Amino acid sequence: MADQIIIVGASHAGISCAEQLRANGYAGRICIIDRLVGAPLERPPLSKAFLQADGHGDAKFHLRRPDWFAAHDIELLDGRDAVSIDPVQKQLNLDDGSPHGYDKLVLATGAVPRQLAAADWS
Ligand SMILES: Cc1cc2nc3c(=O)[nH]c(=O)nc-3n(C[C@H](O)[C@H](O)[C@H](O)COP(=O)(O)OP(=O)(O)OC[C@H]3O[C@@H](n4cnc5c(N)ncnc54)[C@H](O)[C@@H]3O)c2cc1C
Repeated sequence: MADQIIIVGASHAGISCAEQLRANGYAGRICIIDRLVGAPLERPPLSKAFLQADGHGDAKFHLRRPDWFAAHDIELLDGRDAVSIDPVQKQLNLDDGSPHGYDKLVLATGAVPRQLAAADWS
């Protein structure tokens, strides 16, 4: 069976990773999974330019044009949460119960600030 790389996170890091894999000649299957629904958006303008946009040009905030994925033979599985990983079986499990085998797994899930338990935020 052909090689398959799964990338969890269809944002700046995940999409750049897929783009560089193709640019460097990787010809196996690439599947990017994200819990968000729809075409991945560029984050920085969402708190700036997006607020001033007229609402008709949301496409300009796409990280990549929707046809970019097919053009690079990259599958985007949106609206799906990765809930567990079995690194021995090399299997990623999604919130709909479906198992996805991989040869390489990239976690590009970003980061969330952790609040210090001792801090008083009131
Ligand atoms: C509104 C906003 C404005 C910003 N403005 C700026 C700026 O002006 N300058 C600047 O330098 N930075 C800015 N940032 C920060 C910048 O966007 C981040 O540094 C960048 O998006 C990080 O990219 P990333 O791919 O590492 O992670 P993220 O963009 O956080 O992407 C991680 C992705 O993983 C997905 N994911 C996580 N866990 C799972 C899971 N279990 N299953 C499936 N999917 C999962 C998430 O849905 C998300 O799409 C801004 C961020 C936001 C939100």
